[in-house]
Order: sequence, then C-alpha cells, then structure tokens
Amino acid sequence: MNQARIIIIGAGPAGLCAAISAGRALSGKQAEILILEGSAEAGKKLLISGSGQCNFTNNLATDLFLASCEEFGNYLKPAFYSLNNTSLVELINAAGCKHLVREDGKVFPAGMKASEVRDALLNQVRQAGAKLSYEARVASVEKMASGGFKLKLLSGQNLGCDKLIIATGGASYPQTGSDGQGLKLAKSLGHQAVPFRTALGNVELVGFGEYATCAGASLQQMELSFISGKQKHIAIGDLLFTHSGFSGPVILDNCHRVRAGDEISVCLLPNADILIGELKKRGRGITTLNALQATGVPRSLLTVMLKRLSLSSTLALESYNKAALSPLLKILKSFRFTIAKVQDISSSMASAGGIPLAEINAKTMQSRLCPGLFFAGEIMDYSLPTGGFNIQMACSTGWLAGSSAAKTL
Ligand SMILES: Cc1cc2nc3c(=O)[nH]c(=O)nc-3n(C[C@H](O)[C@H](O)[C@H](O)COP(=O)(O)OP(=O)(O)OC[C@H]3O[C@@H](n4cnc5c(N)ncnc54)[C@H](O)[C@@H]3O)c2cc1C
Repeated sequence: MNQARIIIIGAGPAGLCAAISAGRALSGKQAEILILEGSAEAGKKLLISGSGQCNFTNNLATDLFLASCEEFGNYLKPAFYSLNNTSLVELINAAGCKHLVREDGKVFPAGMKASEVRDALLNQVRQAGAKLSYEARVASVEKMASGGFKLKLLSGQNLGCDKLIIATGGASYPQTGSDGQGLKLAKSLGHQAVPFRTALGNVELVGFGEYATCAGASLQQMELSFISGKQKHIAIGDLLFTHSGFSGPVILDNCHRVRAGDEISVCLLPNADILIGELKKRGRGITTLNALQATGVPRSLLTVMLKRLSLSSTLALESYNKAALSPLLKILKSFRFTIAKVQDISSSMASAGGIPLAEINAKTMQSRLCPGLFFAGEIMDYSLPTGGFNIQMACSTGWLAGSSAAKTL
C-alpha cells in the first residue's frame, strides 16, 4: 500500500492551498504530500467561477471582510488570519498571475481568466513539492488503530496516510466533481452531515405571475425580511426582479436561510405614509402613477400594484383619501410573498450545509471527533455572500488545515 504523510482529498482552491501550506511547513520532506482529485483536472469549479473570470477575493479591510461573512466571520477569523486576502493575492502574484481590483472591491486575475488563478495555485503546489493524482476518486476511508488512515480509490487502489484533509467541496454544479459525496467519507469517520442545500441562488414566488412584467427592474439597498417559521432575518441589499420571483445580491446571499413555503417581505418604502402624504400636497393635479414615481419605486411595479388594488393610474393622486390609499401603503411597506421554490442546488453557485462547524476546531481545522482528520472549504457548514468570499475562505481554511496537519506530524 502506497503511503503519504498527508493526503488531501480534492484539488479545488481549498485542497490546493492546503497542499501549498503543508508543503511549505514540511519543506525538505516534500513528496509526502499527495492530493487525490477525482476529476481529470484540478479546480473545475474554480474555472467556471465568476463566469469564467474568477472573482477570487475581495479587497475589504480585515474587519469589514469578516463582518461581511456575518455569523461565520468569528469562526473563520483564525483561518483568514492564516491566509488573508492580501496574502492570497501575493501568493497568486508570486506564481506569475497579476490581479486587478474592481471599483466595487472584487479582485480578479488581470487577464480575467479563471485558469490564470487555477494555474498559479498549481504552480505553487509544485513549488511546495506536493504531488497531485488525477482521476483518483476516493471511495472510502478508514481510521487505523495506529492513528493513520486507509483510503480506497474507486479504481480499487489502497493508500495510507498519517494525516487526512477532506476538501471535497459542496454539492452545487456536481458535474465539476464536487457532488456532495465527500460528506459520506466524513460520516464514516464519525461526523454528522447537515444535508447540503442551495446557497447563492434565486427564488421563485407564489402568485408572482402578475409581476412578470417587472422582470429586469432592480432596486438598490432594499430592506428584506427572510421569514422561516419563527425565525426572521433582516438583510439590506440590491434586489432584482425576474419573471418568476427575485434575484440580485440580497437574495443570492440569503436564500440559504429559507425554503419553499417560507416568506420574503420587501420594504419598498419605509416611510410610505409620510412620503405619499407629501406627494399629495405637492403634486396637485398630477396623475397617481406619475406622482408615485417620485418615490423611486419602478414604474412597471407601480403600474401592476395600482391595477391589482383597483386604483386608477390616471386619476390625480389627491383624489384618493387615506382609506383608499391604505392597501397601497401597506404593500409598499411590506411587499410580501410565499416562496414557491429556491433555485435547485445543481445550478446554484454554492451550497450551505456540510460538516457542522462545532465539530471542527476553528483554530486548526482539525476534527474534534477524529484526531488527525482536517477539513477545508465548502464541505464545511458555512455560507458566505457573493463577492470573492467563497474562494478566499476555501483558500484560507485550506491554508490553515494544511499547516496544522503538518504541525501535528
Ligand atoms: C457557477 C459558479 C460561480 C462561482 N463564482 C464564484 C466567484 O466568482 N467567487 C467566489 O468566491 N466563489 C465563486 N463560486 C464558489 C466557489 O467556486 C466555491 O465556493 C469554491 O470552489 C469551493 O472550493 P472547495 O475547494 O471547497 O471545493 P471545490 O472547488 O468544489 O473542489 C472540490 C474538489 O474535490 C473533488 N472531489 C470531490 N469528491 C472527491 C472524492 N471523493 N475523491 C477525490 N476528489 C473529490 C472535486 O472533483 C473537486 O475538484 C462559484 C461557484 C459556481 C458553481
């Protein structure tokens, strides 16, 4: 049986960064780090990220970066400190890939090709002396009485290692090789597995057909409530109307909080009463639709709302009294829908679920249940927003897992 000191399962950004940091920590004893990748090439998901352009991190300052990770920021702090956004950019630059920072803070390879980032990481893996084996899909793992691990590949080959890092990713876009099966490996070593569910996806809404004409309308910095049973999460961000529901950053970043049957409410105009009262006073003779347009709510949306509430768009706004406008004020303050469907995981950009964070030591990425086992990347049960946070944290957790595994040898 072939033996390595550290085996890493998965050659996505998490696995590649784990190999680089472990290789650097163990310099001189190189060839003993092995990445097993089930596909014929590394980083297939990385290659399609950011529409093939790969927004691999965000240049926010540390406190803002971690705050953007919301409830996961605190847990991910040690990983981020081990390889932060500046260090990741330096790592990639050092392998010959220049970067550019967009006005919104998103960081891309200068050539806007995801392959540049993937190849830079592979270059660093080689320099760190780690080996990569393709089409080496791990079918099962077993903890040995001696403390190490025995792995069986789909091909039937057996391998052994002292330390094991599972970086098999989530379950979105399964054709990239990360099909969620990595959870089975972790389960066989005693871990719980929170089933994967959609993250970074759109939502379809019940009874949204009437609003299909608003598709394409976008609203900046809206306050949305994501209501799931007794839980309510409030988020602010840009919202986009689609033919069947909502999309846009605020939906993508929060869709993992809801499922079919839950509700979403948009506060289109928090001070609707005051604003419309003023418009009534100001706009003598102006038609209801034209007057309401001054609120910033898109005309297409106002048109449907007025029709639904049997209010005329051509009558002057002041011809309506408070009671007649009351349903409109209500809907402007809470534009509420039941969710028919959250985008399928197979086409969403990420997945929530995976190994519970409570089962992984945040300071080392080592399993709390199975010594010698480490985790990195999207297989962990965190969920991060769009903007380069997912690839950065895959790299950061990978980096910490790799250096920690090397330290425990
Ligand atoms: C369309 C799309 C666009 C995206 N855009 C962005 C973006 O612009 N910015 C951003 O930050 N994030 C983006 N993401 C998310 C980001 O790509 C992922 O979060 C990130 O790749 C996760 O890294 P990972 O290393 O944990 O897992 P993965 O990249 O999924 O890699 C896991 C690897 O493990 C291998 N593997 C799985 N099981 C086994 C096994 N049993 N044996 C051997 N190998 C196995 C897989 O083949 C795969 O190569 C996007 C995702 C998608 C789908």
